[in-house]
Amino acid sequence: MAASASFEENLAAAARHLARFGAEPTLHLIDGEPAASLSGETFANGSPIDGVHLGNVAAGGSADVAAAADAAWASFEGWSRTPGEQRKRILHAVADAIVARANEIAVVESVDTGQAIRFMSLAALRGAENFRFFADRAPAASDGLALPSAHHLNYTSRRAIGPVGVITPWNTPFMLSTWKIAPALAAGCTVVHKPAEWSPLTACLLAEIALDAGLPPGVLNVVHGMGETAGRALTEHSDIAAVAFVGESATGSLIQAQSAATLKRLHFELGGKNPVIVFDDADIDRALDAVVFMIYSLNGERCTSSSRLLVHRSIYDDFTERLGAKLRNIRVGHPLDPDTVIGPLIHPRHCDKVRSYIESASAEGATVVEGTGWAGAPAGGNYVTPVLFTGATNDMRIAREEIFGPALTAIAFDDEADAVALANDTDYGLAAYVWTGDVGRAHRVAGAVDVGMVWVNSQNVRHLPTPFGGTKRSGIGRDGGDWSFDFYMETKNVSVAHGDHPIPKLGG
Ligand code: NAD
Repeated sequence: MAASASFEENLAAAARHLARFGAEPTLHLIDGEPAASLSGETFANGSPIDGVHLGNVAAGGSADVAAAADAAWASFEGWSRTPGEQRKRILHAVADAIVARANEIAVVESVDTGQAIRFMSLAALRGAENFRFFADRAPAASDGLALPSAHHLNYTSRRAIGPVGVITPWNTPFMLSTWKIAPALAAGCTVVHKPAEWSPLTACLLAEIALDAGLPPGVLNVVHGMGETAGRALTEHSDIAAVAFVGESATGSLIQAQSAATLKRLHFELGGKNPVIVFDDADIDRALDAVVFMIYSLNGERCTSSSRLLVHRSIYDDFTERLGAKLRNIRVGHPLDPDTVIGPLIHPRHCDKVRSYIESASAEGATVVEGTGWAGAPAGGNYVTPVLFTGATNDMRIAREEIFGPALTAIAFDDEADAVALANDTDYGLAAYVWTGDVGRAHRVAGAVDVGMVWVNSQNVRHLPTPFGGTKRSGIGRDGGDWSFDFYMETKNVSVAHGDHPIPKLGG
């Protein structure tokens, strides 16, 4: 595996697997065939490591989206009627093929996004697990309920909603796209995927793998391009029944407006400013490790990162000092180096945004504790030094806005009520983390925080049958388990009379 391979082995693998993306433009995949944009346009894809040109990518427009939607529509009847057992077999074959190419996926993802290989090698395998999980549920996806009443037997069943659009961001693109695409395919939907323009490469690998593993042409299509053009066209297309979107809250608002005319069903996984609340009765060592992991892994480019640290005032100084000491030992480096924890951020623009919060933190009166940067960082790379903001208050920009980088804002609280009030004083509501040794307090606080997911005495550990999603500006809807099928399927009720109920007689 890439994580256990040496830096040199990973560099050699990257050179091997990325050559194709530099030699020829990366194309859309429509109806099982690679396709250039009808306009002939492409866009450049740069490496976050050193800014080097990785290759050109087809820039899709509305005509390309229309061709992909046609393919998804044409293949919908066949795929949705394919018996669940057969869909299950094919999706397991996709999972097997992901495992077989996990090393390649991890290395390509690492170079395309800047995410450290130690995390990306696991993310590739998580993609396979997502396919297996939903594959196993495909045969029963259309099952419903029997709801008898006095004079009728009501029964429900589900069927795939139709061709769906999946629009994904750049932070962990491969894993995230499988989280959407696997349940859609298991439900019997066909898919048009629009990956993020800053990380287009592994979407091609997934589509290619799925086709090779036996997914019929047209069932999974990929159209690359900008959000404002390709993404927008997908959200406006009348044959696309639903859009599953992962990205920024502001983009979610745009998509809601764009898809209103065609009355699409929408599922949103958006931003977060997730609190981790550490009470003075917690297991401090474990809390410290979890806090560090949940903000400084995955470059902090993680929707569920615990980016607001709320610490009981009595332990605030000690906790943040120990945190600062750990921060200085976190290694920033080349993403293919297995010792690297923090690699380059995705794009120079995002890098500037993350850095701008260091200035705003100082200007607003917080103290900036810096980690150790990378003195040998190549020019043109998007490297930042991880930071901790202490002495912060919840009204500062660093406490209110999603930074989406390795930057943690630490705020002191006085008691449980204060902690809950601070946790809820945000526009977002994705996740919260609670650290306490008091069982009653754990339940009280978990119940009081306005979020979609709470982890008590734990970092984010996913269990695929559980619901995933947020409240407020963090999202609409839930994924995971049967919640995913509820989104990708329509429920129908059939009511059959016993024949003995009264029917009103009008007209004699
Ligand atoms: P983004 O919203 O800028 O882009 C996401 C996708 O939307 C891209 O593919 C982009 O091309 C497309 N897009 C942009 N404008 C569009 C439009 N008008 N119509 C249709 N599509 C459009 O997000 P990003 O910067 O790529 O990703 C980071 C964000 O994603 C963060 O806010 C993060 O919290 C969020 N995120 C959320 C979750 C979650 O599960 N809640 C998971 C991962 C990332």
